Amino acid sequence: MTKPRREIMGEEQALLEVQAVYQELEKRPLERACTRLTECCQFKLTGKTPYLTLGEAILAARAMRAVGQHKLPEKKDGSCPLLHPQTGACLIYENRPFSCRTHFCQAAGGPYARREVVDLIRKLEDVDWAIGGCGAQSLPAALKVALERPKPLKAGVRATVSPRARGR
Ligand code: SF4
Repeated sequence: MTKPRREIMGEEQALLEVQAVYQELEKRPLERACTRLTECCQFKLTGKTPYLTLGEAILAARAMRAVGQHKLPEKKDGSCPLLHPQTGACLIYENRPFSCRTHFCQAAGGPYARREVVDLIRKLEDVDWAIGGCGAQSLPAALKVALERPKPLKAGVRATVSPRARGR
């Protein structure tokens, strides 16, 4: 049986790193303009669901709790569970996942080319690895895991060498 991997980054540090990735994306000179149409939040209609690394999911879960949402609402219409049922707005827009920022919405400019953001994707993957994640999961699954985490990790040691950096 495979032993669980030791977590080598604390949760607070992980969240800072994820936020830094989001901020870095904002600074890139890539022409995109999300006007919050929320078309890409209609998973059933688009046939596409965002995937989140564990750090992103923990950040999103915290943002949910901050607005009083402690459970993942069930959505029968196939839309994102984070769309407010009355206003139709994203409950966690400022902390929305990377996929929601680099989405495929044509009105916002279409999807980012992978080469434009691959370094940021790698950073998110490194954080995922360092906090014991197992790779990106679909938004509902990732949020369920994050919301069910028993307690925040204590401040940890910053990861210095990821599997990728070691060539694994
Ligand atoms: S997290 Fe927010 S922006 Fe992303 S799909 Fe859900 S409602 Fe839309």
